[in-house]
Amino acid sequence: MQDFEYARERMIEAQIARRGLNDPKLLKAFREVPRETFVESGLEEFAYEDTPLAIGEGQTISQPYIVALMIERARIGSGDVVLEVGTGSGYAAAVLSRIADHVYTIERYCSLGEQARRRFRRLGLGNIATRVDDGTKGWPEAAPFDAILVAAGGPSVPPALKEQLELGGRLIMPVGSEGHQQLVRVTRISAETFEEEDLGGVRFVPLIGEYGWREGYRKPRQIQKPLPELIADAAEPLPDFDDPAFGALFDRFGDRRVILLGEASHGTSEFYRARAAITRRLVERHGFTIVAGEADWPDAAAIDRYVRHRPGRSGEVPFQRFPTWMWRNLEVADFIGWLHGYNVTVSDQRNRVGFYGLDIYNMSGSIAAVLAYLDRTDPEAAKVARERYGCLTPWQNEPSTYGRAVLIEGYDRCEKAVVAQCRELLGRQFDHTGEDGDDLVDAAQNARLIASAERYYRIMYYGGADSWNLRDTHMFETLEQLLHARGPQSKAVVWAHNSHIGDARHTDMGTSRQEVNIGQLCRRRFGDTAALIGFGTHEGEVAAATDWDGDMEVKTVRPSLEDSYERLFHMSRQKRFLLDMPKHPELRQQLLEPRLERFIGVIYRPETERLSHYMYASLPQQFDAFVWFDRTTPVTPLGLVEKHEGVPETYPFGL
Ligand code: SAM
Repeated sequence: MQDFEYARERMIEAQIARRGLNDPKLLKAFREVPRETFVESGLEEFAYEDTPLAIGEGQTISQPYIVALMIERARIGSGDVVLEVGTGSGYAAAVLSRIADHVYTIERYCSLGEQARRRFRRLGLGNIATRVDDGTKGWPEAAPFDAILVAAGGPSVPPALKEQLELGGRLIMPVGSEGHQQLVRVTRISAETFEEEDLGGVRFVPLIGEYGWREGYRKPRQIQKPLPELIADAAEPLPDFDDPAFGALFDRFGDRRVILLGEASHGTSEFYRARAAITRRLVERHGFTIVAGEADWPDAAAIDRYVRHRPGRSGEVPFQRFPTWMWRNLEVADFIGWLHGYNVTVSDQRNRVGFYGLDIYNMSGSIAAVLAYLDRTDPEAAKVARERYGCLTPWQNEPSTYGRAVLIEGYDRCEKAVVAQCRELLGRQFDHTGEDGDDLVDAAQNARLIASAERYYRIMYYGGADSWNLRDTHMFETLEQLLHARGPQSKAVVWAHNSHIGDARHTDMGTSRQEVNIGQLCRRRFGDTAALIGFGTHEGEVAAATDWDGDMEVKTVRPSLEDSYERLFHMSRQKRFLLDMPKHPELRQQLLEPRLERFIGVIYRPETERLSHYMYASLPQQFDAFVWFDRTTPVTPLGLVEKHEGVPETYPFGL
């Protein structure tokens, strides 16, 4: 049984209060409305997620924060009479009814209006009147209103609604086409004068009606040429990975300072092979000397010693911990072998290409240590920790985790001990790092790593956006350090997941969760000299686990969802291609409107795919280019190796 009260409190604290909406009246109102009774049956466990949810008729219940924001910006007071256009599930009206004197709410769909009416009745909310009609005309008999909230985006503010505002009344409404709306506040200053303010970008379903959009308004935009055909026209087919023409397609990015290569999962062979082919070209033809991955520093350092022909360390076998297949796979081993061979041809040691790990210092090692400790001392807390680590990705919504965490008192008590474990582990690792005198990780860098790592482990233990931001900021700063250390002419290729390298501002991560990432920080720091290249697939198989610390499985990747970018690319009927966004302004324009995009990490849960693996994004703003493989296959993992005394002959992977 889920603990909804706890989930509600957590939502109020994390999604509303912490984002600056602190009015006690507002928070109390959210506390009084059981949001789980306003979502479709079966979706209750997701009711307190930081996201809108489907409610039928193609409509949504708004994200809690947006409901709070609109109420707060409308400055609703206790004696107010309020009109809401767009009843939807009825949730916003219910919250409003806990603050205002009376709420009038209009919905155009009969099924939704009736359902909301039943919910109000069941919850005893007697001060709400519901009507099924076109809300763009307002509710003249009940006017004037102290405030009007419009929960759907229209082309402009309907004149009838302005007319029905009381003097001093406030109207809040998203204005603009779907995906490009601005939230505006209109205040009635006098009978004829209205003041309009812009409250920032938002995304709502369309307001359909006499003074809204026409029904099916999206269709005219697609009449000229269907989007999949435009994609097919723009798609540049990808040759075989081993064909030099593959890498040559990416020569256009050769003069950039930083090229970020993404992936839509951590276990897809094609993504690794493509990145290897592109990186080979960038190294050979364009002077890139840094290859930096979403990997632990000490493990990557072992690979770096190998590829740069520096002495290995005794017993060193990198990437032995979960998720082993992410770097310990045949595709990476091939690339590492190539890099090792390439560096032989570079006579000046200083110009050899290095391989580095950007991640917070030794993240998987520390997680493994935390789990081992909890397994020994508090197995229940270990279970919770495993679930949390499974949700370390911003697109993964596993709300049951929070509920379960409260049941376990020991969780809080373990914090000090696990952080101490991590600290000790870090201390040991760093003592070791100094030995070979490679000066990239000097004492100051060590101190920086330890400082942010410790804070990270604490935040990570409890989850949340803070840990993501700390991690990505850390990765970005490490990249900056590497570029600095290798000199002003140095250039870097980064291999990391799409969620790290696509500009977060143009995804749900940025728009609704205040999360930043490496791609966004690179754009800010390097401007046009950074290239952000995303990767994607429609279906196939992927190497992934079901839970954190679980075994690698080969899982079937479900065909992409209908409203997703992936489905559009699939419908282009092109099997593998590069899409260079700025080269195709018309297509870019048409792709701007946010759609679903799929993110698979080390964990894949097809059974809850929509909630666990999709978020909204504006792909052409997120990436400069996109690499597509319609059907993909899993990486081939390398076996694990017992730790040897002495360096194994087949260093670095112990093949
Ligand atoms: N406030 C709602 C809630 O808390 O669940 C969410 C509203 S949903 C984002 C927008 C709603 O506006 C949809 O249910 C849609 O059918 C409705 N809508 C769109 N155009 C409308 C119109 N002209 N009149 C009334 N409702 C409209």
